[in-house]
Amino acid sequence: MARRAFQAVILGPPGSGKGTISQRIREHFGLHPVSCGDLLRDNMCRSTVIGRQAQVYVVQGRLVPDDIVSGMILSELRALGPTPWLLDGYPRSVVQVNALALHFPLDTVLELQVPTAILQQRLTSRWLHPGSGRIYNTEFNQPLVQGVDDITGEPLTQREDDRPKTVARRLELYAECTKPVIEYYMYV
Ligand code: ADP
Repeated sequence: MARRAFQAVILGPPGSGKGTISQRIREHFGLHPVSCGDLLRDNMCRSTVIGRQAQVYVVQGRLVPDDIVSGMILSELRALGPTPWLLDGYPRSVVQVNALALHFPLDTVLELQVPTAILQQRLTSRWLHPGSGRIYNTEFNQPLVQGVDDITGEPLTQREDDRPKTVARRLELYAECTKPVIEYYMYV
């Protein structure tokens, strides 16, 4: 019988470093990172049906409805076939946990824990070069010239959902919605 690919989930609040850690796991263990937030932003950029449906929720820091997100993620995972993967940013609700469990067994679940005050500070000081996705942080990873991308010299922007008011809302939402997800995985 053919062995199936290694399949894993990484959980952690916004700003906990899921993207960075996923990248390291890719380099060391070859797990392909699948980021729900990146997929949503890519769909929004390309103005796909999913992107247009998701936009209103994402800019307000609200969770995108489960059926939209699950449809997008499950088709992405199917397309990966036998490639081992690490899912980031999904599932974020018990409905999403069940949608995933129905189609894909998991080998491991990682959870990153970071104090709220540090998350708040990290997120509101995060700046982005929209063309490349390069991320800077005015606290600990500053660009060479303030407000400008190191490679292209183009201006940096702040993600609309990284502004202070939206950040507070995203952190509250994460705690509220993801707690039952973490509890679920602790006891399975
Ligand atoms: P962060 O982890 O920093 O919140 P993401 O890039 O993971 O950022 O997500 C950005 C936004 O995309 C979220 O604020 C939310 O609106 C939406 N989103 C991402 N993942 C999900 C999900 N699993 N379910 C619903 N909405 C999601």
